[in-house]
Amino acid sequence: MTLIVEKFGGTSVGSVERINAVADHLVKKFAEGEQLVVVVSAMSGETNRLIKLANDITEKPSAREMDVLVSTGEQVTIALLSMALQEREQAARSYTGGQVSIKTDGVHSRARILEIDAKKIRSDLDKGRIVVVAGFQGIDSSGNITTLGRGGSDTTAVAIAAALKADECRIYTDVDGIYTTDPRVVPQARRLESITAEEMLELSSLGAKVLQTRSVEFAGKYHVPLRVLSSFVDGPGTLITYEEEGSSMEAPLISGIAFQRDEAKLTIRGIPDHPGIAHQVLGPISEAHINVDVIIQNASAKGQTDLTFTVPRDDYESCMEILNGLVTELGARDVKGDDRIAKISIVGVGMRSHTGVANTMFKTLADHDINIQMISTSEIKVSVIIDETHLERAVQTLHKAFDLDSV
Ligand code: ASP
Ligand code: MG
Repeated sequence: MTLIVEKFGGTSVGSVERINAVADHLVKKFAEGEQLVVVVSAMSGETNRLIKLANDITEKPSAREMDVLVSTGEQVTIALLSMALQEREQAARSYTGGQVSIKTDGVHSRARILEIDAKKIRSDLDKGRIVVVAGFQGIDSSGNITTLGRGGSDTTAVAIAAALKADECRIYTDVDGIYTTDPRVVPQARRLESITAEEMLELSSLGAKVLQTRSVEFAGKYHVPLRVLSSFVDGPGTLITYEEEGSSMEAPLISGIAFQRDEAKLTIRGIPDHPGIAHQVLGPISEAHINVDVIIQNASAKGQTDLTFTVPRDDYESCMEILNGLVTELGARDVKGDDRIAKISIVGVGMRSHTGVANTMFKTLADHDINIQMISTSEIKVSVIIDETHLERAVQTLHKAFDLDSV
């Protein structure tokens, strides 16, 4: 018998009709011989509604009570789905995270799963039941309810699949898989049959909306066979795989193109170059809890150097203020900035075994008169910073240049 963990997100269980549709689907799968553990999210909008209620009562809700509150959304769904299954003469049982011992650390609102006691789930499966588990929640060592961060039901599903050594973990959502890029920007974007977990993590700006990043990390650690598919239309979805050593020779050069608007860059120029300047400049930025992305320090000339980095556009003004404050302190010349930039990244494990990928990217952009302002690379990714007005055109031409348009 195959053992499958299926997870249904908020829109997939967003109404009584949708819950009934999920129940029909599960009854069919069960009849086909699958043992099923089902993880569900709160009905769509519910978690936000609960958060708003708390904020209407107090500006500073305690983290513990917040978790007690928001975890109720999932409890509603498990009960309703189990009822829908029982209504179809299908044996089923619902459990909260605490009831099936999803043990976490005590960090409220972003707890990490430490262990899962799979015994109870197994014994129910053996009795021919479909087991319905509340996503997003767990219990700490003192018995407090914890939650795993927004989108955390994905991680619950992957963790249960890992604990049970399930044959597959299927994440049902409102898109039918992972795409080569955002279809709203490139209509020719296509669904990937498969993608490696590493690529998926790098493509997080595409993927984060589909899977909680932490669930992909978790899946990678335990090599959980993971598939993303639509609960609205039938199809194979996208399989997340784990690259075997050496298999990247056959991998496509580029699997996908991710992009980010709403970025900004800042340059502090003419800083006397000595050990510690990167720390002196970026330390205060990090203390302000601003996330720095691409960083470039120039080769120094005449004992001076320039440091350029990018941050989310919302943090531009505060970064500017911090840097301006540092100019005199560090004896730097001045600060410049541009808050109208965007980042494009091409991602693919094929880069490991093929040269010239970055160059194809640079040439394609040059041929279209798109100026590259910054470049950063990792083993399986090349990112460039460009003027935001060229973003759409750049993504479209790169998509074509790397043959992602074709089937
Ligand atoms: N209900 C939670 C949220 O909205 C967890 C989840 O859906 O995965 O973030
Ligand atoms: Mg989700």
